[in-house]
Amino acid sequence: MNSSEWGQFLTTRGFQMHDMLGCGVIDRYPLSVQLVGKPALISSIIVKIHLAQSLKKNYRKEIKNLMKHKGAVSYVGRTLQMVVRTSHMQYPYEFSQTVIALVNYLTTNNIQESLQCPICGQFDPDGLAYYNGVYQKVHLSCIESLLDKREADVAQNEKNGNLLTGLIGALLGGLVGILPSVITVMAANHIYAILFVLIPLCIYYGYRLFRGKMNNVAIVLTIVLSVVFLFLMEYLVLVLTIHQDYGMWLFADCFKVFFDPEFFGEMIKTMGMSALFLVIGIVYSWSQISQNNKKTSTSVQFTRSTIKPIQDAGYTPFKNENA
Ligand SMILES: [Zn+2]
Repeated sequence: MNSSEWGQFLTTRGFQMHDMLGCGVIDRYPLSVQLVGKPALISSIIVKIHLAQSLKKNYRKEIKNLMKHKGAVSYVGRTLQMVVRTSHMQYPYEFSQTVIALVNYLTTNNIQESLQCPICGQFDPDGLAYYNGVYQKVHLSCIESLLDKREADVAQNEKNGNLLTGLIGALLGGLVGILPSVITVMAANHIYAILFVLIPLCIYYGYRLFRGKMNNVAIVLTIVLSVVFLFLMEYLVLVLTIHQDYGMWLFADCFKVFFDPEFFGEMIKTMGMSALFLVIGIVYSWSQISQNNKKTSTSVQFTRSTIKPIQDAGYTPFKNENA
């Protein structure tokens, strides 16, 4: 079974396919199925259910047993995720059996699908949408207005986003980001490497706060400025230490010492952990920045394409078949 046959397989069972993601409703449970691995067919089945915290462990064990050791079960909050591994030959049969077993289990144990709108937190959802990685019940008005707002934000940023104001924000952010490190060095005479995480984050949030345009420039700027501010911080610490010890502000002399190869090399060597935390901060900022305008638009369009009123969800006839 290749991926197009796989799509066909789900489509004929009432799933709506979005590339490799299938969204469907079995009984009353909205399920999303995604093909995550080849050549072995590994698919993840995701369903959001209402489950008491204390019972999660038991259910997890029992659901895992249902799958006859052909996969894994995990929870993220109230989202139940099953990863099913099957061979190519056995795919339709084993997959159907797993889904049927799961739905039977949920029904028999009276485990409800999530009936809480993930956006407003209220009940009585009237629609379905693939939102936050889960095909789930939502209020149509909530999801529509959320997506409208995201689209408006993107349009606003495209129109008014400004590199220059963003740069100013990033520079101010960088200063704020190194402040805790400088203060702790001066007060406690110790560098807490973990504080270096703040540098890229503050640069990024500064850029965004000052309405910098959200595109790839934001990423490059954050990385470059993170390194610049790291050195600026080390330089300031040097100046302040000398001021503490000798009572003099030797900005220019310190600058010369700072770029002395021996001093510089020694500093780089001792940076180890700090650099690591700086990188962690950059990676986190990166994941935020990569939500740039283009990607946000694409994801808004994608979510929109999955929205439908509950009564139109149809029925996915897994239960009555012998696969
Ligand atoms: Zn709602």
